[in-house]
Amino acid sequence: DVPPETLLRRPADIIGSADNAGHARIPLPRDLFQPERINSRGIEFGERAAVNRLVTDVATERVSAVPVNYSGPNDVNRAVTTARDGFSTWSRAPATERAAALERAADLLEQRSARFIAWLQREGGKTLDDCVSEVREAADFCRYYAAEGRKLFGDAQPLPGPTGERNTLRLRGRGVFAAISPWNFPLAIFMGQVTAALMAGNAVVAKPAEQTPRIAVEAVRLLHEAGIPVKALHLIQGDGHIGAALVAHRDIAGVVFTGSTEVARSINRVLAGKDGPIVPLIAETGGINAMIADATALPEQVADDVATSAFRSAGQRCSALRLLFVQEDVADRIIEMIVGAARELKIGDPSDPATHVGWVIDDDARKRLDAHIARMTREARVHFAGPAPSSGSFVAPHIFELDDARHLTEEVFGPILHIVRYSSSALDGVLEAIADSGYGLTLGIHSRIDDTVEAVVDRLQVGNVYVNRNMIGAVVGVQPFGGHGLSGTGPKAGGPHYLTRFATEQTVTVNT
Ligand code: GLU
Repeated sequence: DVPPETLLRRPADIIGSADNAGHARIPLPRDLFQPERINSRGIEFGERAAVNRLVTDVATERVSAVPVNYSGPNDVNRAVTTARDGFSTWSRAPATERAAALERAADLLEQRSARFIAWLQREGGKTLDDCVSEVREAADFCRYYAAEGRKLFGDAQPLPGPTGERNTLRLRGRGVFAAISPWNFPLAIFMGQVTAALMAGNAVVAKPAEQTPRIAVEAVRLLHEAGIPVKALHLIQGDGHIGAALVAHRDIAGVVFTGSTEVARSINRVLAGKDGPIVPLIAETGGINAMIADATALPEQVADDVATSAFRSAGQRCSALRLLFVQEDVADRIIEMIVGAARELKIGDPSDPATHVGWVIDDDARKRLDAHIARMTREARVHFAGPAPSSGSFVAPHIFELDDARHLTEEVFGPILHIVRYSSSALDGVLEAIADSGYGLTLGIHSRIDDTVEAVVDRLQVGNVYVNRNMIGAVVGVQPFGGHGLSGTGPKAGGPHYLTRFATEQTVTVNT
């Protein structure tokens, strides 16, 4: 494995064999593709036949079939029932013990970074720099929640009261949490959800996206090895049907979900129809994220930040920029520079360290994005249509100009930027259009006028605002991440209040 300190260097410095172009490639851990029964240690239930996911080892171009056992309804029941058992012990473990397990998990992640980077590339199709920062983020979540958890879940907090009465408040786990995570951050968001729930004293049944099952297996193994009791953390595999069965189980006490607005709504409906306790949902969904660039913005900086925000990670981030509003006085110049920046991007094999834009997650995603591109090509002005390799699920960066922002009605999860011009007197209309979309996840502002920045921040209910910089890559503990409205229920992952959303509060009054 690559030693952890190499994570701090540029990707090209990571040791490995060099390809013809002289780029370093990460050596594959030797046992990466070895077939095995992945439910052998009780971490995964698989009542349905194994489904083979095809994973390509780009160094040898060998395609391997990786067996993944899909779970059935009985598996869900077994996992939740065992987790309920696990909850009674884990929830009573001292916060310091739970935190220490998370810190060990962070150490192990760092020690095995090469293995996780390899899986993120092969299964998630992510570029090398995205893989490196994702492993970093996963470890950050572990350490951050451990530190916050020690403060929040340690001793009960003393409260005031009259003489002869002692009042305290403490936080406790809720029970068994369902954690349903997306394919775009198959390690970081998976680990973030699971470790937050565990730190708060819950047991967890996790269901990763069906596109990225093996990274989750590796992550759960690592957490068990770090000291999370096997009974307190379970993994089930499958598509939305199995996720729905999990959410519907009578013993689920909370749900944490990252994914589409549509699925968040359907989870809400399932929860509302259940008998028994009222179950909270922590949801982080998508957005039609906007950026506003006015005439005082620095064009070079705007171009660079737009290209990063819209096209990096192939636009497959919830935070990614979808809609740029640019003041008409500077629009031609800025658009030209953005097109120039887009032209510089290298699209291709994500394991090549020189690649900026890898493939999109699968062929279904490619087809959806291609359909959107075809519609925009008919209906909008095309500023840029990048070239993409002809084989593989690639979607090249595209830039379209619309005459009205309202033509973009839903999140387009790929490297496609939409631009709308506005006149200096029409900023109010821009803010109205952004607010009317109903989403509120990320927002970018490029302006040198403090009053404009303040007014925009004040007017819009958006979770993460970025001023004069790019708008992706929230850092744990630095930019707590999560949005409002159609973008989610509001809790901020990697923020100081997140763990409390996984807990119940108990007040104890003692007459002394
Ligand atoms: N936290 C990530 C970012 O700031 C996005 C997470 C997501 O796509 O769900 O870019």
